[in-house]
Amino acid sequence: MTDVFLTVALDTPLDTCFDYRWAGEGSTPQVGQLAQVPFGRREAVGIIVQVGSDTNVPADKMKSAIAVRPLPPLSGQWLNLCRFAADYYQRPLGEVALPALPKNLRSEKTVSLERALKKLGKQEQVHDPAPADAPRLNAGQQQAVDAIAAAEGFAPTLLYGVTGSGKTEVYLQAAARVLAAAAEQDSQAQILILIPEINLTPQLEGNVRARFPGVSIATLHSGLAEGERLTNWLAAHLGHARIVLGTRLAIMASLPHLKLIIIDEEHDASYKQQEGLRYSARDLAVWRARQLSIPIVLGSATPSLETWHHAQSGRYRQLELRERASQAAVLPRVRLIDMERDKPGEGLTSTLVSALKLRLERGEQSLLFLNRRGYAPVLACDACGWIGNCPRCTAFMVLHKPEHRMRCHHCSLELRIPRSCPTCGNIDLQPLGRGTQRVEEGLQHVFPEARIMRIDADSTRLKGSAQAAFDSVHRGDVDILIGTQMVAKGHDFRNLTLVGVLNPDTALFSHDYRASERLFAQLMQVAGRAGRAGQKEGGNASEVLIQTRYPQHPLYGAVMAHDYDRFASELLDERRQAGVPPFMYQALLRAEARELQTALDFLQHAAQCMEHEGITINDPIPMTVTRVSNVDRAQLLVESPSRPALQAFLKSWMAELRATKTRARWSLEVDPVDI
Ligand code: ADP
Ligand code: ZN
Ligand code: ZN
Repeated sequence: MTDVFLTVALDTPLDTCFDYRWAGEGSTPQVGQLAQVPFGRREAVGIIVQVGSDTNVPADKMKSAIAVRPLPPLSGQWLNLCRFAADYYQRPLGEVALPALPKNLRSEKTVSLERALKKLGKQEQVHDPAPADAPRLNAGQQQAVDAIAAAEGFAPTLLYGVTGSGKTEVYLQAAARVLAAAAEQDSQAQILILIPEINLTPQLEGNVRARFPGVSIATLHSGLAEGERLTNWLAAHLGHARIVLGTRLAIMASLPHLKLIIIDEEHDASYKQQEGLRYSARDLAVWRARQLSIPIVLGSATPSLETWHHAQSGRYRQLELRERASQAAVLPRVRLIDMERDKPGEGLTSTLVSALKLRLERGEQSLLFLNRRGYAPVLACDACGWIGNCPRCTAFMVLHKPEHRMRCHHCSLELRIPRSCPTCGNIDLQPLGRGTQRVEEGLQHVFPEARIMRIDADSTRLKGSAQAAFDSVHRGDVDILIGTQMVAKGHDFRNLTLVGVLNPDTALFSHDYRASERLFAQLMQVAGRAGRAGQKEGGNASEVLIQTRYPQHPLYGAVMAHDYDRFASELLDERRQAGVPPFMYQALLRAEARELQTALDFLQHAAQCMEHEGITINDPIPMTVTRVSNVDRAQLLVESPSRPALQAFLKSWMAELRATKTRARWSLEVDPVDI
């Protein structure tokens, strides 16, 4: 009898896989199964990536695998996706593949897996989805659905449709067509729909379930309890779930019959993972669609410049929805309020106050958008100049009045609000600036009888509370909604006719060249919450009021004209001239240490340790917020106009750096978005 050896990928920073002898009973394990193995002094669960009859590991070092889990194997395609991501983002395979699995699969307990498998085994598979009560598509929507359903092979499509143009309807009917086509051919199909915000899952899930009664649907996002996550993941992996809805992490789901990928609001920053493996779910989705030769739809009213560039250059097909879908619904009128002329009290200009008053009288809803939570961004002493800094970070402590705390938004440190100035004893400390809590307080003074609701990360800490809050807005129990970007995206508010935007100016002058793209998208998104159902008889025309000190700024001009096309073309020209993405490929090496110099020294070494023809290596610099939790952070940007050249460089560079001794902790990010 020949020996059987398993090569296993484990979740460790070591860039290698590990061989084990298989001495178990029963059938030989398969590639893609999970193996429980001894690792150092503990046990670990890894993925079998190879099964063979020889090994380079000497016999006295060889350990035996303990067990193989009863999970049907992950497919070669799924492993290829992980291999690609590992390669592209310069990480070991195990560090990519294992975190993509539900925790309960990776832990040593097998009970929950068996229970979940049993439960799923009983589920019936329903084959013919009969779309119920679908509205009649307008011409643009119909064209889009036809084009998506007719697509063969890898067909990346930008669905460029203004807010409220009925993109969701296009997704649903395209999905129905793909499921129906598969059923006709007696084959199986799965559809993956990615959305940017957890809070949008219930709305979309409701729509999908209503439209596809009897079709098995699974959601995947970080808000699920572990048990649920496992069940839903398995439903996808075993092919039971026909439609999988999820946030960015769902892109790593195992989907053996994947036939269509849809990414809603493809421009959204939340598709970028910002810690650990810093992947772009959108980019991985496009790769996955190409690998599987299936269509992918990228939907947005304000596409990312990367996607826009692809569409303009013909690499992606572009479908357009120019009008709002609901009868009589038109895009809201956008007006700028010059804060130099109309000086705000409580953060609200008199123009905005009158507009709010009008809505209250008519029983219509208003939304105030301010992308800053807390009460005030900083507390200060007028008498001596003291300012409330975080003792551990290069940052102010944010005042949270309802919670009676000062909180650091970087390290989460909480302190009591000082009664008097710690330096001079002055008891009259002043909050500077304005966050959502303070606007809420101001509104209560101006409109004591109004029903005001604040929705931000602080007000929705408890599980389920965000959903409850949005439900009450939809029910009409709220007159004025104030919130951060949480309220700006995707929600289909039916009775909302006014959007007020407070303080968007800071992004106009950011050193980050992406800030204006982001601000524009944000403003178009939040503006898109108004007037979605059309004007009611005797009701107010919907409008968007932006309070600004720079009413002449061209960005606001483009927002007023709802003119993404021109704005994007101009931005692309600027980017081309400046030699930045999408005309340049970048990677960012970050280093952190107790002392800034340690981090900078490491980066300096990294900058010089290799030949780098065709690659630009910039100078190491401290990060803008240099110190977080008493650790200093610095970064080094490398760039190239050629992606393959950059990738090749990174590969050997990483090998070199992994062998470098340093006290700094470091990590690499490919295609960084926050520089
Ligand atoms: P988007 O995602 O493009 O912002 P939605 O898909 O949320 O827009 O659609 C906006 C509203 O228009 C929704 O309430 C939707 O039910 C409605 N709608 C979509 N398509 C149609 C249609 N063909 N006829 C009437 N109403 C529609
Ligand atoms: Zn003082
Ligand atoms: Zn801090």
